Amino acid sequence: MVKLMTPGPVQVRENVRLARSYETTNPDLDPQFYDYYKETCELLSSLLHTKNESYLLSGEGILGLEAAVATLTEKDDRVLVLDNGVFGAGFADFVTLYGGQAVVYKSDYRKQIDVKALKEYLDNDHDFKYATVVHCDTPTGMLNDVTAICRLLKEYGILTVVDSVSAMFGNYLDVDEARIDILCGGSQKALSAPVGMTLVTVSDDAKKAFEERKTKVASFYCNLMTFKTYYEDKWFPYTMPASDIMGVRCALENVKNDPDIIGRHARIAKKTRDAITGMGLELYAQDGYSNTVTVFNVPQGMTADYITTTMKEKYNIMIAGSFDVMTGKVIRIGHMGENANDEDIDAVLDALKEIIN
Ligand SMILES: *Cc1c(COP(=O)(O)O)cnc(C)c1O
Repeated sequence: MVKLMTPGPVQVRENVRLARSYETTNPDLDPQFYDYYKETCELLSSLLHTKNESYLLSGEGILGLEAAVATLTEKDDRVLVLDNGVFGAGFADFVTLYGGQAVVYKSDYRKQIDVKALKEYLDNDHDFKYATVVHCDTPTGMLNDVTAICRLLKEYGILTVVDSVSAMFGNYLDVDEARIDILCGGSQKALSAPVGMTLVTVSDDAKKAFEERKTKVASFYCNLMTFKTYYEDKWFPYTMPASDIMGVRCALENVKNDPDIIGRHARIAKKTRDAITGMGLELYAQDGYSNTVTVFNVPQGMTADYITTTMKEKYNIMIAGSFDVMTGKVIRIGHMGENANDEDIDAVLDALKEIIN
């Protein structure tokens, strides 16, 4: 097997793989499964330091982003889209798809969103139903201070949707302290389960906004309101993928049993950045380095393809180029979750050194 060192999907620990092979019940008809699901959601909320309710949705991480937008947006709602990266910009498409008016606040892709500048902008215009922001924008590895940003937006009465898919459990976040209304995560990033589940937390303010809608949500699968009384009614909007959820539960227990998880991510990330700059390579970003991914510029005289292909063919390690406006410009090393260990990162760094020489 190739050593997977991409910024998601990442390596999956054996206990998670085994948990997905246990016998399963009929999740719709077995009341015990509703307890199991609810307890798993409560474990997720506690690991994210929030009293907000969580849901596990059957679908890749993108589902959470679309569901948050679908459930909040009504026709002509003004939505502030914070764009300092590819995923940041992408939210505008979801907003317009559901009839909203996306107002894009664009800033330098090499820098964190400047909270002071954002405050000045909001002083002039803060008539937004909600705002979208990306915690770690993976194509560039940009980490935003979502705590400061979401607390600021809350002061202006603006709800927040945060894409933390590639940051969750690798970068510290206290959802209640950050006052985040809807936080989205995915199973295949730092959580280190296989692809297939979206994780969301939903605040009471967000639920109130759902209730106050005048029109129906233009989706069934992306409607977070369908989970409202699942436990009381013992009714899921669709049959839950029991094996996926058992895998996620095991991965969440792994996180719970790993009290140094954030510290380890921070150490591995710093070591990676130091090694990269030590080789004479240049990091893409000027600040806002995420603990979960390191992104550096393709050196002159080389192509991204050459680096990733040689890494795979000669060293049997998979790292990533990037996509969208970043295609061909940078290389990404994913050191999140199970990938965040010295042995694996040393193998990548040793190989990279040989390749660029
Ligand atoms: C991985 C990821 C997602 C999920 O989308 P993919 O199509 O699997 O990449 C969403 N947001 C961010 C920031 C991600 O890193």
